[in-house]
Amino acid sequence: MSEPSTPQSTASGEVRYKGTPASPGVAIAPVVIYRRDEVTVSRRKIKAEDVPNEIARLEQALIHTRQQLQQIRAQLSDSLGEKDASIFDAHLLVVEDVALLESVKAQLATRLLNVDYIYHQLAKSFAQKMKELDDPYLQERASDIIDVSRRVVQNLKGVKGEDWKFLDEPSIIFAHDLSPSDTATLDRTLVRGFVTEVGSKTSHTAIMARSLNLPAVVGLRGFGDFADFGSEVLLDGHEGLLILNPSDQTKFEYGQIESRRHAVEEKLDELRETISITTDQRRITVSANVELPEDLSPLRENGAEGVGLFRTEFLFLNGDAFPSEDEQIRLYLKVAEAALPHSIIVRTLDIGGDKKADHAAIEAELNPFLGWRGIRYCLGRPEVFRTQLRAICRASSCGNVRIMFPMITEIGELRRARQILNQVRDELREEGIPQAEKIDVGIMIEVPGAALIADQLAKEVDFFSIGTNDLIQYTLAVDRGNERVSDLYQPTHPAVLRLIGSVCDAAHRNNIWVGVCGEMASDILLTPALVGLGVDELSLGSVFIPRIKRAIQTLNYAEMQNLVREMQGRPTAEENLRLLEDVAKRCFPDIL
Ligand code: PEP
Ligand code: MG
Repeated sequence: MSEPSTPQSTASGEVRYKGTPASPGVAIAPVVIYRRDEVTVSRRKIKAEDVPNEIARLEQALIHTRQQLQQIRAQLSDSLGEKDASIFDAHLLVVEDVALLESVKAQLATRLLNVDYIYHQLAKSFAQKMKELDDPYLQERASDIIDVSRRVVQNLKGVKGEDWKFLDEPSIIFAHDLSPSDTATLDRTLVRGFVTEVGSKTSHTAIMARSLNLPAVVGLRGFGDFADFGSEVLLDGHEGLLILNPSDQTKFEYGQIESRRHAVEEKLDELRETISITTDQRRITVSANVELPEDLSPLRENGAEGVGLFRTEFLFLNGDAFPSEDEQIRLYLKVAEAALPHSIIVRTLDIGGDKKADHAAIEAELNPFLGWRGIRYCLGRPEVFRTQLRAICRASSCGNVRIMFPMITEIGELRRARQILNQVRDELREEGIPQAEKIDVGIMIEVPGAALIADQLAKEVDFFSIGTNDLIQYTLAVDRGNERVSDLYQPTHPAVLRLIGSVCDAAHRNNIWVGVCGEMASDILLTPALVGLGVDELSLGSVFIPRIKRAIQTLNYAEMQNLVREMQGRPTAEENLRLLEDVAKRCFPDIL
């Protein structure tokens, strides 16, 4: 079990904290300590003539909040039934609370402070009074007031999702945790990188950081208690370091390291247009993972051969509602066009687990990663699924779009998903709406149960993509986002290697191709193992593509096959890692 490491102080006054490297890069900036549960509400003087305007702002925010709550309530009622949805009735009552509104109006006129501040203060004190009452029902209402007031304040500020508006200069964010949707909404013009106390390399927040090309460190404890808002920090996403008050010497050394790295990157640039063939002529496709289709230039810049995984759920996490069919088509087409002449694999909504949004109406679950997630959610919300499938099929008229279903655990799920897809395709045909004649359909293999029946699944799909992030967590029973057990999260565990190998064999025996789109694909130390196991494609964050291409070009497939056979028989992950380190030092020392 990993414990927080002790911070190292030096004579110059700098203090070094160690966490887990989550996204490469180095940044220096003042640190902002962000605490999600405390809404950041500023206090501002207003003039007496501003009072009516402030009241109007509040009324508008209350209307908006009521609409949001009603929408969530309706979605919950559809999916879970009226009983569960009725918990939102208490929230609606808070929005309509006349006593609270009257108190806000009275205080606005006497205190002449901004309405966000007054509303927030009053809601907090109302909640506090309720908590002190000797009535369990009223005590529970206190948390409703807090929840609703957070939403109202956010609406008053007019910010979707979490509020990053308090940032007014380039900063490094330090937080206990950031949800994938927090990360997706970060203001990229101001955020230079981030650090979280919890999380691991394969948590979606870390994946998002790599996608945004932001340096990040996760699982770093003990910093938030001591650092002051605004202190200068240096964030090293390669080594997982956060350095408080870095000395001039440290900054100088980092400057040197960065220029050496830059020189290697420039050399790798030459590989952009090359393909990845092992020394004994085995061709492996190297494609990119895409999370937010805002900036697709890295695809071309890094020489991606298409998009092997488009995680569409991030489009569904932002905002107040799921995107419409037309909005989705626009985004899918944008990615498909950017990838031409290669293809893209659009993964249908993999919401749930650590990827949640209020409007998705997923109740709190004891084990979210084993719960209502991925294809289970889509089959339970056919209207959401159909809209997405329609959009993907319509975008397929571009000619290079494939579909992939996540979290398949048994053949019945695959068949139900395909049946809905076929119905959607028939509808489009009847409506005379263009779509591709043939759309390849694949599944993610990310649950051990699916890996073990890969021979049966392979007969019903065009390709497999192995989601190692989940496959490892489910095989080894290690929460992929929990830094406390990250030592047990072992990609080189013989059980993991055996499963991947058997999935590759099952795919090939059934004449379909198989890729890997989990984070294993971007870890250069593991490339020899994946090549030896027989994968046909690797899909990874664009920034890592040139390095992985180069590594493949130095390897001999037959030799790697022998290596993995040996690894599958070794009892410990550590021994396997050492074998892989030896291969890396021998074959591609220049890019390690
Ligand atoms: C995986 O599980 O490896 C994967 C690629 O999917 P995600 O990380 O989005 O769960
Ligand atoms: Mg997964």
